[in-house]
Amino acid sequence: MDGRVQLLTTYLINDTLAIDAGAIAIGLTPEEQLRIRSIIITHAHLDHVFSLPLYLTNLFDEIREPVNLYATQSDFDAMRQHIFTPRVWITLDTMKNDRADLVSWRPIRTGESFLTEGLKVTPIQVTHTVLTHGLIVEDDRSALLFTSDTGATERIWQVTSECDNLRAIFIDLSFPNRMTELARASQHHSPATLLEEMSKMKPGIPIYAVHIKAAYRDQVIEEIEALNNPRIIVAEVGREYEF
Ligand SMILES: [Zn+2]
Ligand SMILES: [Zn+2]
Repeated sequence: MDGRVQLLTTYLINDTLAIDAGAIAIGLTPEEQLRIRSIIITHAHLDHVFSLPLYLTNLFDEIREPVNLYATQSDFDAMRQHIFTPRVWITLDTMKNDRADLVSWRPIRTGESFLTEGLKVTPIQVTHTVLTHGLIVEDDRSALLFTSDTGATERIWQVTSECDNLRAIFIDLSFPNRMTELARASQHHSPATLLEEMSKMKPGIPIYAVHIKAAYRDQVIEEIEALNNPRIIVAEVGREYEF
């Protein structure tokens, strides 16, 4: 079994686009970090923004053009007020070297698609304890769905069922079945609630389970294997997937 645990969330797409910044300064080499030109924040929970301050200061001297930071107004405000403060780190307006500002904020809004790094991205609100967006990421050939943190939800399944090129769904599967009540309360999934949710999803599309809480990873994997459903795949941490 893969011994790596997942405490933090980051997806890297085509080398230059990161979805969430949980592991951005930790899971990638400095060269990989430097290739990232845009980062999309699905919500400002700690596991999704954890290493963003470290990432920016790691690359302080190296950044030559601002990194695009896509986030809602409320997430941007949350990061500015609670993370990028002199008490915790340094402020965003002092994040500049002699060539450029390190970060350029790009506001995102529910349902409004935008182009970044040669891809079309559509943020759709999911159901979590704070405003959170799942992202549909498309190029000419394929579309991928990253739900981010969510419990039972509706809109994103309606939108993606009309998506012809949908190749994969990356979904939050945080807890084992014995913690299903906690999963429901905290608006995440367990294998049991994922099965309920599957009836709403576009049929036949592979479902990659991510965001498994590190402490329960083995148990969740066992429960998924016991389902014997070839559509549900536990995504490996650190692995490259091609669609
Ligand atoms: Zn969350
Ligand atoms: Zn999370």
